Amino acid sequence: MSIEEAITPARDERLTAERAYELYWADLLDRDAAFTCVGTGCSAALICACLDKPEQNLRIRPYFRSYRLEDHAETCEVAHGRGEVKAVKQPDVFEAERPAGHFRTEAPSGRSAATTPTVRRVAAAPAAGLIPRASHYYRLSSLVQKFLEHRRDKDLADATVEIGGETTTYEALFRNVYRQKVADLLGTRAVWWGTASIRATKEGGYYLRFSRPFRHEDAELRPTITLTAKDIEAYPVRKLLRARLDKLIAESDGYCVAFVWAKPWMPKDAGKPFVRFYVNNLDHIDVRGPEILEELKNTSRVGS
Ligand SMILES: [Zn+2]
Repeated sequence: MSIEEAITPARDERLTAERAYELYWADLLDRDAAFTCVGTGCSAALICACLDKPEQNLRIRPYFRSYRLEDHAETCEVAHGRGEVKAVKQPDVFEAERPAGHFRTEAPSGRSAATTPTVRRVAAAPAAGLIPRASHYYRLSSLVQKFLEHRRDKDLADATVEIGGETTTYEALFRNVYRQKVADLLGTRAVWWGTASIRATKEGGYYLRFSRPFRHEDAELRPTITLTAKDIEAYPVRKLLRARLDKLIAESDGYCVAFVWAKPWMPKDAGKPFVRFYVNNLDHIDVRGPEILEELKNTSRVGS
């Protein structure tokens, strides 16, 4: 059984598996950190699967699970679910900026929560475990994961996401660059995606070039993205970003599928036109291995 939320006594924080994953890669959570179930009256010990895997796809993603189902309390709705909860659908929320202190090193209650034996439940109302809450995401990678799952489940057009104060569907938000007329799209902020190749630069950054092009008059323009070493060093989840990119370069010669939340940019009057995506927040880019293309192809074939 895959569980989405848990409490970690080390930080006295209720968190999603995606958040635990970020904290682990920001060196703020140990590989063997303890997690407990959020269910009513339940203190089942949970582990977070795939915490240390840099790659993510439909089979590999962080989630919590208990060692045994019997570890959960009788009263635990997480383990012994109630049907009505799933009926409430709220849009996912993608936050363009993280709140200040999102990667704080200390527990909110101040000193050494790790050594405090009692876990104070955050919002310890009865059945707090199952009150449906919108999922808030900060890293585009979390949205990409949802995109892949909705595409697999064939509900992209129904699944909604709130982004920049507007609610849209996953289907409308994610746009493949392939053969779209870029001149008409310079004002369109979307999650642009396509196959790409990536290489490390001498300066310690990365250079990414889409292999699928936009269309511009009679030309095909392959957009590029530059990630500078300086920006990467300032990014809290840099270890994950570098591990993911370096793995792709090592294992598939840099061939990848790139996702970026941005507007395409073209110079006003360059002799030779070109397209770039500027990523000023590294939370807004995600790069996946080519196996997701296979997954997407396989999933779209189902039932067709
Ligand atoms: Zn439980």
